[in-house]
Amino acid sequence: MAELQKDWVTIPSELIGSIPRSVELVEAQRTWRDGELTTDQLALLQEKDLQNVLFELQRTGSVQLTDGELTKPSFFNYPIYALVQYKFSFDERNLPTIIDIHGHQRSVPKLIDAPFRYSTFAVEYLRTAQKYTKHPLKQAVIAPSALSILYMTESIDQYSREEFLDDLINEAEKDVRQCLEAGADKVQLDFAKTELTLKMKQNANLLKEFIEINNRLLNRFSREEQKKIGVHVCSDNKADNVQSPGIDYSEVLEQVFQLHLNNFYLRLSSDQDPDKILSLISKLIQPHHRVFIGVTDPTNGHVETAEEIRDLILKAAKYIPIDQLGTTDDCGFAPYNDSESISREKCYDKIRARIQGTKLAEEILNQPL
Ligand SMILES: [Zn+2]
Repeated sequence: MAELQKDWVTIPSELIGSIPRSVELVEAQRTWRDGELTTDQLALLQEKDLQNVLFELQRTGSVQLTDGELTKPSFFNYPIYALVQYKFSFDERNLPTIIDIHGHQRSVPKLIDAPFRYSTFAVEYLRTAQKYTKHPLKQAVIAPSALSILYMTESIDQYSREEFLDDLINEAEKDVRQCLEAGADKVQLDFAKTELTLKMKQNANLLKEFIEINNRLLNRFSREEQKKIGVHVCSDNKADNVQSPGIDYSEVLEQVFQLHLNNFYLRLSSDQDPDKILSLISKLIQPHHRVFIGVTDPTNGHVETAEEIRDLILKAAKYIPIDQLGTTDDCGFAPYNDSESISREKCYDKIRARIQGTKLAEEILNQPL
């Protein structure tokens, strides 16, 4: 390994967040839902699994870790999960739908009782993981834009959409700020672009509105704080093909770069035309940005080799300055708590390949010209 020189540029490599739960944990969640396991018993099993995931992640060579989102009900609904049966309704017509990169489709309930509040904040997950590792931890939070679809029409008496948005931004600010204050290495907003497609496609301004909602949140943070904040664009290229033509990824990227934050975690490896996406990024990137390109595809059973990953990074380096480049996976491996589409071992293999491929590219890109 080359000796680290003073001007050596390191390419950081980060997870998106989720790792599949162990088979035992998925089974335990089921038993808990059936009332045959207490919440305390479930929590014990979750923490045991969490320790295992943190250990394995660190063995892949990852510097920054996540809690694998093992205890989140999903990347989307954790703030309201405990309130769904009291304050939300699924008995409405034309509920919006979220589809993740794995093709899982879920209806989004409608808020029927004001005011809007979170019941769970992401800092809880962070604090639990901090008990078991000294490594830096990233914490993913749901972007307020995604939760804004919980109340699209003013159907609650005396509760305007504007009041709802105020409440939402206040809660989202707490969600992000608490993680920063607790020492998160990064806080990543999960921007589920899938919410834009399908039933809501008619509204062309919706994407703009989502960016504005997220910037209302981000403007509450200083430039220093924004350096620790990022956005992951959850892409649904596969879902688009199956369900309906979605909004173009390029169109989404153009808007996403308007967000007042520094770090972008973007799908790339599964894209049909990476050069087109990279070329667009090269036009959108600002000097204070860092773009983490997706170099592994969680929906593909093939484990990428370190060399394949190295080559994709070298391609990206033609468009993105090396000191603004990072790598990640195209998406989380298990965004919902019952996701079982990929084995845990395969996830670790892909992550290991990402770390190794990133190192290989870093060595080459740091060679004197
Ligand atoms: Zn994603």
